[in-house]
Amino acid sequence: MNVVLLPGDGIGPEVVAATTRVLDRVGDFDYETHLIGGAAIDADGNPLPDRTLAACEAADAVLLGAVGGPKWDTTDPAKPRPEQGLLGLRKALGLFANLRPVKPLTALLDASPLKRDRIEGTDLLVVRELTGGIYFGRKERNADGAIDECAYTRPEVERIAHVAFRAARRKVTSVDKANVMETSRFWREVVVGVGRDTYPDVPLEHMLADNTAMQLIARPADFDVIVTENLFGDMLSDEAAMITGSIGMLPSASLGEEGRPGLFEPVHGSAPDIAGRGIANPLATILSAAMMLRHGFGSSAEADALESAVDRTLQDGLRTPDLGGDATTDQATEAVLEHLK
Ligand code: NAD
Repeated sequence: MNVVLLPGDGIGPEVVAATTRVLDRVGDFDYETHLIGGAAIDADGNPLPDRTLAACEAADAVLLGAVGGPKWDTTDPAKPRPEQGLLGLRKALGLFANLRPVKPLTALLDASPLKRDRIEGTDLLVVRELTGGIYFGRKERNADGAIDECAYTRPEVERIAHVAFRAARRKVTSVDKANVMETSRFWREVVVGVGRDTYPDVPLEHMLADNTAMQLIARPADFDVIVTENLFGDMLSDEAAMITGSIGMLPSASLGEEGRPGLFEPVHGSAPDIAGRGIANPLATILSAAMMLRHGFGSSAEADALESAVDRTLQDGLRTPDLGGDATTDQATEAVLEHLK
């Protein structure tokens, strides 16, 4: 398996290096490392150099650390910005499905701002459509008003519905505003059609987005896969992420068409405040690598092994500073490796 590593900036190189050590314990991977973000601006003047993009397009999967930092912050629209590298990559790879699992680890149940009895047993996946809807529709503005157009096509809804049904273990909850929006009524019809024609055994329910925002807090353990459009998904995935309580723990995957490489990355940024000190929590990136194994390579057993090693590491009491402890990146990595033996 050919994996392109994009360590990026800040703590990115530290957490990616930790993760390749763990990956090497469960499989045989060929790595190619390339520049993106601020590091690429420094070397090339371009946050997404051509050779980085070409390598990613040819890879089986891409594992990214994080991009950005104060060194490259600028309000000058003519200057390159690190985030352009990431957005350009998502666009070029056609990554239309963003997957964010939310599963509070037993050892961290008390790190959530929600009560333990509410979140215990939560194991859900938000599948967000990433390249359509209101964020990408026609935009207009004049002195007296503005328009953001929300549009979805049948192929766009069908392909994200397939991702959701394939990931489901118990049911799919399709989230929309079919009571007021035409795109939502269309979305609902198309999702129903995909379910009926291809996944007749997977239960499908529909929920309005405002109600979902309440139910996610009231009874998160009832959800399995939530599939929704770009705007609702943006909000609901951040809301759902807070159930786990800690940014250093959250993985994500962005997937394109079958056969094209996915992008796997922690949800957190480059954490410039702690970069270079060897204390970054590598677990979100290790869990992103588990998503790469599961969704990119179909290696569920290895993915389960990584996730369980992370869980047991925390159960043993190991905590990096972001979780209130004093373990280093190296100590956290060693502990995960120990549990993979
Ligand atoms: P951040 O996620 O980098 O950091 C927020 C806080 O969380 C900081 O205190 C940081 O020390 C801590 N933190 C984050 N990840 C951690 C980890 N793995 N271990 C321990 N502590 C961790 O968010 P920010 O400070 O808003 O942004 C910093 C830079 O990162 C900015 O340049 C921003 O644009 C960029 N950013 C990049 C991405 C990405 O690459 N996907 C995402 C978000 C932010």
